[in-house]
Amino acid sequence: MSDSSAGVTRRSFLQTTGAVAAGAPLLGSTLAREAVARLGPQMDGGAPGAGTLLVKNIHTLVTMDEDRREIRDGALFVRDNVIEAVGATNELPATADDVLDLKGRYLVTPGLINTHHHFYQVLTRVIKPDGTLFPWLKTLYPIWAGMTSGDIYLSAQLAAAELMLSGCTTSSDHLYILPNDSSIDDEIGALADIGMRFTAVRGSMSIGESDGGLPPDSVVEREPDILKDSQRLIETYHDNSRHSMVRVALGPCSPFTISEGLMRDSAALAREYEGVRLHTHLAENQDDIAYSRERYGMRPGEWTESVDWLAGDVWHAHTVWLNDEEIGMFARAGVGAAHCPCSNMRLASGAAPIRKMRDAGVKVGLGVDGSASNDTSNLIQEARQAMLLARVREIDVSGMTAREALEIATLGGAQVLGRDDIGHLAPGMSADFVAYDTLANDWVGAHADPVAAVILCHTDSVSFSFINGRKVVDEGRITTVDYDVLAKQTRDAAIRLSS
Ligand SMILES: [Zn+2]
Repeated sequence: MSDSSAGVTRRSFLQTTGAVAAGAPLLGSTLAREAVARLGPQMDGGAPGAGTLLVKNIHTLVTMDEDRREIRDGALFVRDNVIEAVGATNELPATADDVLDLKGRYLVTPGLINTHHHFYQVLTRVIKPDGTLFPWLKTLYPIWAGMTSGDIYLSAQLAAAELMLSGCTTSSDHLYILPNDSSIDDEIGALADIGMRFTAVRGSMSIGESDGGLPPDSVVEREPDILKDSQRLIETYHDNSRHSMVRVALGPCSPFTISEGLMRDSAALAREYEGVRLHTHLAENQDDIAYSRERYGMRPGEWTESVDWLAGDVWHAHTVWLNDEEIGMFARAGVGAAHCPCSNMRLASGAAPIRKMRDAGVKVGLGVDGSASNDTSNLIQEARQAMLLARVREIDVSGMTAREALEIATLGGAQVLGRDDIGHLAPGMSADFVAYDTLANDWVGAHADPVAAVILCHTDSVSFSFINGRKVVDEGRITTVDYDVLAKQTRDAAIRLSS
């Protein structure tokens, strides 16, 4: 499909969902700026999501606050996009502009936070289903090279819809391949339109096969272009204010796709702006470790230090093969980790030492990783797999408790993304929370501990979700897009891409 026909796909989708007015230009950056601008009034207390909201008669309210309070017959009182009060229903105001009565049936937790993803990979699921990392990547790079701006928009929105239905209210995305007319603007616009809180990671690859890297030369970018576009994105979209809906991070892809110079230059650029963080893949499998040793003569931990990435504004995906010394280095420096258990199992990469990392004080969040190596974007299921894998690794149930899995998925994710306004429910926090049905058929017999049931039972979706005070999932259905239309258009794009 040509670029112009991709534009038609995107235009028709946007018009179907009412996301953009007819006649609006199709340039990704223009659309994205408009979409982000529409979020502005909400952040300032205007419509939508303005006024007060009372959520009452919550079966159990899991706050994840300092005392890890779990409040029976709980309630939340929200003003605009911020939580004003948390407590028992009989302690909070009796009414509000909007009232959601959960009738003692639904359990509420903070919204889950996804710290690592590649949204575009929803277009290429189950390709090379039995490959390990490097052969899997080499199969996929040429397919991804065919993506357009419209593909990036659709896939980002579809991945976000899957995440929202599975309880996620904030996600990051690491987009490191930008072929044809695509740009990071496309996914920023997609996420603003669907209403998800977002950290957009401007990914990059600069070392192709001819220079000893893994990707074909055709999909790598020139480093000056990467840095120039990174600066443009930061200055256009990055909002470091409390409750912001969009932040930008910089993310050279991995040790085997970029130069050390790009790592250092990206770090220096990010640190010129408040709250711009750094993200990459690290120590994912044994091939990755071998590449670092061979090319740089260092283990991954030493390498991060050598390129100025051993710092509290950095988070790494995977960290499966960190040794004890590296765990200590990361804890002391405040480096975060995005733990991606499904992807690590799917690609037979290994089981990350999460118990050791948490005990040492490393910040750990969860990531579903790209949908080509998971092959889903279900964050509740990811939390369940994190708990199970940790117990298998340690051969000990204390490898991870059910409540700890929920904590990593909420509070842990907020710490990794450097946010103190999300991840737990307390006055002054962003109004991001989700509700699970304790009477779901999959929870029959789980009444003894409904909080543990979120992780231990088959829980794959939420009944209600609020992001920034706005109801984005209502009785299990997304309110901000037509999910069936979105799925059809994304399916069509995926078929075209792989044909
Ligand atoms: Zn990844």
